[in-house]
Amino acid sequence: MQTQARDLIAQKDKNGGDRIAGVLATGPNGNMQIRAGLTIGADGRHSILREKSGLKVKELGAPFDVLWLSLPFKSGDPVDLVGRIQGGAFFVMICRGDYWQCAFGIPKGGFDTIRAEGITAFRAKLRAVAGFAADRMDIITGFDQVKLLTVAVNRLEQWARHGLLMIGDAAHAMSPAGGVGINLAIQDAVATANILGPVLLKSVPKLSDLKKVQKRRAFPTRIIQTFQLFVQNVMLAPTLRAKQTPKVPFVVRLLNAWPWARQWPARLLGIGPRPEHVRLQKR
Ligand SMILES: Cc1cc2nc3c(=O)[nH]c(=O)nc-3n(C[C@H](O)[C@H](O)[C@H](O)COP(=O)(O)OP(=O)(O)OC[C@H]3O[C@@H](n4cnc5c(N)ncnc54)[C@H](O)[C@@H]3O)c2cc1C
Repeated sequence: MQTQARDLIAQKDKNGGDRIAGVLATGPNGNMQIRAGLTIGADGRHSILREKSGLKVKELGAPFDVLWLSLPFKSGDPVDLVGRIQGGAFFVMICRGDYWQCAFGIPKGGFDTIRAEGITAFRAKLRAVAGFAADRMDIITGFDQVKLLTVAVNRLEQWARHGLLMIGDAAHAMSPAGGVGINLAIQDAVATANILGPVLLKSVPKLSDLKKVQKRRAFPTRIIQTFQLFVQNVMLAPTLRAKQTPKVPFVVRLLNAWPWARQWPARLLGIGPRPEHVRLQKR
């Protein structure tokens, strides 16, 4: 896995149209060409293949960035998802067994200011919002323990052109709201295998075959991104702008009062609106 794709190889097909015929890449032994009848672009939210493809991106907006960090899990801690909102800050903790994966929301582009203020000031900000986890912030000794996620929410208008199909974050960068980017990326891959597998056994897929993947996966992508935009624009962004701790949104109060209702958002996020199942192909 030490080979980086740098560019797409474009060539004319027999009808004079442009088609993608593989990638230019750089590996441990230098530059190479990898030729293929079908190239799948699955190189993530900063996709170089997407940039080189000329496919048009629709930006949906992301008003904040997220800093990710790990904190130790202590016995007696809860194991449920923790979300805390304090005037100007939100903090989410996901229990990963022996540690907490934590997300600290900051205004868009605000990481440079936080770094300039220093690690002591940053720890104080975390302590103010972290509730029961405020007692373990000394573990954060430098910004190398903090990973910036520049939040982007976007999607390609067309996921494919002749010889090339984009899937996962490369086709639709997801907001961290709900933590479902991986679910969608894997489901895209399963749908791609189900749709294109039988075609590949016989020939090189046509553009109309590649478009079937987008047709199947665009709907769940749109639904989940709409949900994420609601969470980030209506619930999280106003929190970051607020000086005081804002009122708990109605939806959250409802879910708090009726625990049984939590299964619906959990189902929407965990399984998604159009779950995929691997279909075994007969040769
Ligand atoms: C800090 C952070 C925390 C996250 N937490 C969660 C979470 O808890 N739950 C969740 O569901 N989602 C989470 N996400 C989002 C999730 O990681 C993505 O939505 C998901 O990984 C997308 O999968 P993907 O396969 O499309 O892209 P990626 O997982 O980004 O995989 C892309 C792959 O392509 C490789 N690559 C990139 N460029 C090249 C190139 N030029 N040549 C060759 N290879 C290349 C990369 O090395 C990588 O292996 C998080 C994202 C971040 C940044």
